[in-house]
Amino acid sequence: MQARAVAGYEEQKRMMHFSLAAAVLLLGAKVTAAVLTGSSAIYSDAAESVVHFLAVCFAVWALRLAHKPADETHHFGHDKVAFLSAGFEGAMISAAALLIFYEAVRQIIIGVKIENLGVGVAITSAAAAINLVLGLSLLALGNRSGSPLLRANGHHVLTDVWSSVAVLVALGLYRFTGWVWWDPIAAILAAMNILRVGYRLIRESLGGLLDEADPAAERRIRGLLDEQVEKAGLSYHNLRYRHSGRTHWVEFHLVFDDALTVGEAHAAATAIESSVAAMLQPDGRVISHLEPKSAEHKVEPWEGR
Ligand SMILES: [Zn+2]
Ligand SMILES: [Zn+2]
Repeated sequence: MQARAVAGYEEQKRMMHFSLAAAVLLLGAKVTAAVLTGSSAIYSDAAESVVHFLAVCFAVWALRLAHKPADETHHFGHDKVAFLSAGFEGAMISAAALLIFYEAVRQIIIGVKIENLGVGVAITSAAAAINLVLGLSLLALGNRSGSPLLRANGHHVLTDVWSSVAVLVALGLYRFTGWVWWDPIAAILAAMNILRVGYRLIRESLGGLLDEADPAAERRIRGLLDEQVEKAGLSYHNLRYRHSGRTHWVEFHLVFDDALTVGEAHAAATAIESSVAAMLQPDGRVISHLEPKSAEHKVEPWEGR
């Protein structure tokens, strides 16, 4: 399991370095296009690529920290920083969306003048193509490795594909109708879409940081526990589950016959714990509290629930 987790990290790191390289390349390209065309939709795209670069830098740092093993100062590991990264990414793109909105309204008020349409279209098309491939790859690897950090970056990059599509449609409409307002309108639509995704990323980040319950995962754990406990002739209660990105944490109470020795009860508990841990990928930590039937309904104040 350890070797697999490490291999997963190398792959994730490589993917995030691709994402960072794309961010740098597209930042340069989009700023150039914005200066050459004067289009407010392309300007929006360029403004977004500045915060985009900052968000990916943060994510690359967070990915490295997330894979540091538990140590003296962080007993539960560092992988929760992945949720923070997703939230930071959401907050950054939301700030970009507000800036885009402001700029589009300003353009509507002071007027729009678009030049060098061809260059703008070429650069924006290339950016959209690069981001489409990158975003889908990030999302696929993020889902495969259960990484909220990669998934967040993937959703963000795919949002930028939609922004670029909005730019291209606006410039196309302008080209054929001569109506210049398509440009700020596209910028406003793109900003609204970015805000939608930004909100979602922040929402998911908070859910992760606050250990929001995951009904699907809990159902799977309960299914296995029910089966194992029945096989061993035991019962359980106080099941609690949370996950911190990569690592899944499970705790529950196991109830044993009073006559059993500690050694026998421990052996049975260990078997159940390891079968639950084996199901949780890439990493599962399972702890059970052993109690005799005679004390089953006594709730200790320190248990909390
Ligand atoms: Zn972006
Ligand atoms: Zn109990």
